[in-house]
Amino acid sequence: MNRFFIKYPSILRKLYPNRITRLEEEKSIYLTFDDGPVPQITPWVLAELKKYDAKATFFCIGDNIRKNPETFQQLIKESHSIGNHTFNHLNGWKNKTDVYVENVLKAEEIILEIRKECRRNRDKMQESRIKNQDITKANLKLFRPPYGKIKNSQASELIELDYKIVMWDVLSGDFDSRISEENCFKNVIKNASAGSTIVFHDSQKAFKNLNYTLPKVLEYYAEKGFSFKAL
Ligand SMILES: [Zn+2]
Repeated sequence: MNRFFIKYPSILRKLYPNRITRLEEEKSIYLTFDDGPVPQITPWVLAELKKYDAKATFFCIGDNIRKNPETFQQLIKESHSIGNHTFNHLNGWKNKTDVYVENVLKAEEIILEIRKECRRNRDKMQESRIKNQDITKANLKLFRPPYGKIKNSQASELIELDYKIVMWDVLSGDFDSRISEENCFKNVIKNASAGSTIVFHDSQKAFKNLNYTLPKVLEYYAEKGFSFKAL
């Protein structure tokens, strides 16, 4: 038995219709990766995605971006979407709204700073096509609450600040080391369908399961004709 819901509960979907859980897309899957960037894992994820020309969304922890700016730049250069996952991986239920929102803004600051740096480097190289693509994506403000825990007051403030709150449709459970690799894979394929957002983690803790599951998930959906898109 899992201690968490693999599939996002429909009651929450109804209660919070403005939080994204899935998209109406016929042949697309939205892979998402939380808690990076970390140099030991994130580049491996990028290499796996590249094999299928897959794009994904990375909900990054601000403090990890600070520690690993080069790994973060790689995400931007390879045109994946970036989401905010707070600076210190805060639990919304245990933090006051002002502290929580400040922490999100602190992460936003470092995301914008490195994006600008990337853009400046591209300007120098005059790669205007890629540059324009990046600007479009940079305008999108995505936020996923750590642990999926966020108070209504926190969500409202972030929506005021133009954030889109992204929950999930399917949890792979990769972070739970008691789940076997095979069951992690089954969690995904039994629950995800066209338009699903799926949660993985580019963290060392999740790697035992991710290492097995991600290549198989990519192969499974690619064979069925799906493409993998960034939010
Ligand atoms: Zn997280």
